[in-house]
Amino acid sequence: MRILVIEDEPKIAQAIKKGLELKGFAVDVVYDSDSGLSYGADPDYDVIVLDRMLPGSIDGAELCRKLRDNGINTAIIMLTARGTIGDKVEGLNSGADDYLVKPFSFDELTARVKALLRRPATHVGTSVSVGDLQLDTNTYKVIRGDKEIKLSSKEFALLEYFMHHPGQVITKDMIINHVWDQDADILPNTIEVYIGYLRNKIDRPFPTLKPLIHTMRGFGYKIEAN
Ligand code: CA
Repeated sequence: MRILVIEDEPKIAQAIKKGLELKGFAVDVVYDSDSGLSYGADPDYDVIVLDRMLPGSIDGAELCRKLRDNGINTAIIMLTARGTIGDKVEGLNSGADDYLVKPFSFDELTARVKALLRRPATHVGTSVSVGDLQLDTNTYKVIRGDKEIKLSSKEFALLEYFMHHPGQVITKDMIINHVWDQDADILPNTIEVYIGYLRNKIDRPFPTLKPLIHTMRGFGYKIEAN
């Protein structure tokens, strides 16, 4: 999952980026509202973490309003140093989905990011499943049948992205845009290699079960139970 952080304090921005990357997210950072407005318009971001007080021609609340006016419905968490009722209401009224008061614990930010990512899906709790394959976004456990599968953090991020879109054709471009950050130099070949890694762990060890990862020649891939 790909996250955009719009935060002008470099220390906080880098701490958020590092922390979220350790959790397997791909993270881009911009430091002012004007860059935020142009980056935020990219529909490939799954969540935007937006600081309310930003340098630039507009502040965070106005930025949020503009993104919504422009038809961008990416989930937005607004960060603010102030925590009065009025600020919260203004943040939410500007179109943010959630609100976090600084200083916040990193665990809480992660939990809220995950909650927003789960929102449109039809599963319960922190676990997603496709057929007999289960992935838990909280414990990072992946289980097929009764066998636990060990994945690298990139493999996990790739599988998580697939499992949030079961039965849907996922192109290599979609994978590059949602699973890697913009600084990553990813070639379509790399995606094939990672799909191969996943197949070796998710499908090949289970020869009696139907494969879950399907190649759609000329289009991309999908995960589907049948
Ligand atoms: Ca700020």
